[in-house]
Amino acid sequence: MAISLDYAARSDVGLIRANNQDSGYAGPNLLVLADGMGGAAGGDIASSVAVAHLAALDGDDHGADDILGLLSDALTAAHTDLVEYSRARPELAGLGTTVVAMLVSGRTAAMVHIGDSRAYLLRDGVLHQITKDHTFVQYLVDTGQITPAEAENHPQRSVILRVLGDSSETVELDETVRELKPGDRWLLCSDGLSGMVSDETIAESLREVTDPGRCADELVDLALRGGGQDNVTVVVADVTEDETGPSTVPQVVGAAAVDRARPTRGGSSAAARAAALVAAHTGADLGELEDDARDVDAPPRRRWWVRAVAVLIPLALLVTGVVLGYEWTQTQYYVAPDGDYVAIYQGVPQTIGPIELSSVAERTVIRIDELPPFAQSRVERGISAVSLADASTIVDELSREAR
Ligand code: CA
Repeated sequence: MAISLDYAARSDVGLIRANNQDSGYAGPNLLVLADGMGGAAGGDIASSVAVAHLAALDGDDHGADDILGLLSDALTAAHTDLVEYSRARPELAGLGTTVVAMLVSGRTAAMVHIGDSRAYLLRDGVLHQITKDHTFVQYLVDTGQITPAEAENHPQRSVILRVLGDSSETVELDETVRELKPGDRWLLCSDGLSGMVSDETIAESLREVTDPGRCADELVDLALRGGGQDNVTVVVADVTEDETGPSTVPQVVGAAAVDRARPTRGGSSAAARAAALVAAHTGADLGELEDDARDVDAPPRRRWWVRAVAVLIPLALLVTGVVLGYEWTQTQYYVAPDGDYVAIYQGVPQTIGPIELSSVAERTVIRIDELPPFAQSRVERGISAVSLADASTIVDELSREAR
């Protein structure tokens, strides 16, 4: 009997963050979770790049012996892209992403993992954490310096030791291969879930909510009720023996989903949309992506890809326009409050959907409440500058006005 995956992907920006830098993908043979990091638009680009490289692998024509190599090759390529991308655009230096990805061939599943996103397996009602976080606190636990309970509230719990794109060194991935068992339920999630909701509560939802989509919704709700301090993304997949897989259309969520103005919950319907988005972001060859699309043999999937390719080109042009516009905004500066202090921002004080068009370039030690009322209101409205040097001059003047 053939094995298939019944899957769902969901993502939510959370209650605190301004944009969603997580990306999730769930398709007939591939599950991916990527949690991006980096200033301005860096994190969402990083996680989208990872998803785009991996999405091309979703097909049923890979041999069981090849899938692990395919995953690690795709991540090495994504890593190289990210390193080059951050070199080419200094404002994106430091962009990186976690990745946990599973590729299936028959009954064999290969998994690669880097960072602190997690894979869990619910088997016979018992939850197992499959991946081990590449974090500082996990290192402290492993070396017996703190207990797992102490790790949960440790002040440095968000310090990640390894991510994709963080340096020009070779990528160090955890790689595993295992057999899929019908009845198993897999969960991939960002730390927006695992950091907000206990393993016991996650296990309860996975046991009780049968439908993968409704279960994924409930897990996101739990993270939001737990504080929603981070982007939260979940992929739930059931291993079934149904002849015709119940899920056939890939779901792309979070930053990699093209509809950025509506990044929450529901998925975009096409893997190619993520690929097109990233093609425009990174200058990857669009023709290559189309060739990948044609390589998929199964008739229903071919029809789907053909339709996807038809929207790919206009979509890529649209995104290129957005990216060029974004690049222009990053040549602008202004002075405005950052909390209680005056700061210099790079960009323009606007957002497009979830994308912030500015980020703090320099913080100062000038308190807003130490400024005379008139200067306060000027800063509050934002003082535009023609360059970083101009912004520094404005800050110097404010510093003289401050009490
Ligand atoms: Ca996160």
